Amino acid sequence: MIDSFIVRRSSVTEVEKRQKLRMDEIISYAREFSPFYKMLYSGLPQKINRLSDLPPVTKPQIKKYFDQICTDSIINHDDVESFISNPENVGKAYLDKYLVCTTSGTAGKPEPFISDDFSVNIGSSITRIRGGLTQWYGLRGVLKLFAAGARYALLDIKGGHFSGVAALEWYRREHPQAKERIKLISIFDKLEKQVHELNRYDPAAIGGYPSSMVMLAREKLAGRLKIKPVFIILVGELVTKNNKNFIEQIFGCTAYEEYGSTENNVMAVQCKEGWLHYSSDWFVLEPVDQEFKPVPNGETSHTVLVTNLMNKVMPLIRYDQGDSVMFKPEPCTCGSVFPAMKVMGRKEEVITLLTKDGNHISIAPLILVEIAEGVESVLRAQITQKSSTLLEIRLLLLPIFELKIVWTEICDRINQYFEEFGIIDVQLKLSFEPPKQNLISGKYPIVIKDVEVSQHQHIKENIYEQFH
Ligand SMILES: [Zn+2]
Repeated sequence: MIDSFIVRRSSVTEVEKRQKLRMDEIISYAREFSPFYKMLYSGLPQKINRLSDLPPVTKPQIKKYFDQICTDSIINHDDVESFISNPENVGKAYLDKYLVCTTSGTAGKPEPFISDDFSVNIGSSITRIRGGLTQWYGLRGVLKLFAAGARYALLDIKGGHFSGVAALEWYRREHPQAKERIKLISIFDKLEKQVHELNRYDPAAIGGYPSSMVMLAREKLAGRLKIKPVFIILVGELVTKNNKNFIEQIFGCTAYEEYGSTENNVMAVQCKEGWLHYSSDWFVLEPVDQEFKPVPNGETSHTVLVTNLMNKVMPLIRYDQGDSVMFKPEPCTCGSVFPAMKVMGRKEEVITLLTKDGNHISIAPLILVEIAEGVESVLRAQITQKSSTLLEIRLLLLPIFELKIVWTEICDRINQYFEEFGIIDVQLKLSFEPPKQNLISGKYPIVIKDVEVSQHQHIKENIYEQFH
């Protein structure tokens, strides 16, 4: 197991070799023990040379064929539903060995995903070692962490089997001696209550959504929040440079991003150059367009297909994760052997606008929000696409700045960007409402769509039907 972590001296070729071995293993395992994959791959040759020879798997398929996807025949959806309906079971092992997490259910009912204990343990250890320890705080940080009591506070949704909560409860159950060293604080609690709890608990490190950390940084700036964390982990939402800098500056410590999902745990950790490096010895990530065709490095994808090489109980092979990503064309200067990428937003959040030659152009959410949040004092920008020619923007500012001046600067910068790409007649409207929080997930979406279903969704449904 130790070779899973020692990667600093590995070469890219060694990592690729390890990836290929594990890929072959998970495909054979899925073919043998998962009735779904057995059926899906039935017409394909026994030896698979390239992952792209296999069909992608979509969320509707996972939902529909849940029982058949799982490789342990005892698992069935009704039983899992009954298990998660009991709040006492959060973080407890289902069938004495599996972790159950559910999606937040922003697009419908929360859907369960099952992880085996191997993937839970490997996933969390890799994140800690490859992320924080080797890149951000080092051994000196660990010593500071323990000197400060080694308490960790996670700001997340309380209740339910959402991944953050379920993984935290699982960890507390597996490590009873460390039970008091980890605390969950609800992001739906009033800010004063969160501040009060954090001051009382005095954590040595905190983690949560960047939007949540920005609000806490404002409290720290106002002198109400007293904590002095050694580091901060940013998860669950897009992280703009401005947000990260503001959080680091106010807390006086390092803040770094992790990329993951309910289905796949943490897959990537940010490096000092600002790129996310995904553990390519345990995952395969393929940036693809709306027809699941490969997208070259340097270009923004429509979505990303994820193959999880560590979780055998519910194999996800070429699973449509739904995030738009961009891979770095050249090796990252940080020297990591793992591929470098950026998450550009959810595929549903991509903004489509009209150019002067009559074509439509898609813009990744991260681009516009980076432009808006690049203006001094803007802590958060949220865009609502009202139509193909009208974008409404909600802002959260530092109170000392004048809104009119900030807004003029934002419009100038966005219009300049539009001009470069020949985008015409787009009206920018300032909303006097603050950014809206999703009341189920607690996240602040970067883009809200008030426009009709895009062409892309029709294409995807047709592809799904082929493998239905
Ligand atoms: Zn890097």
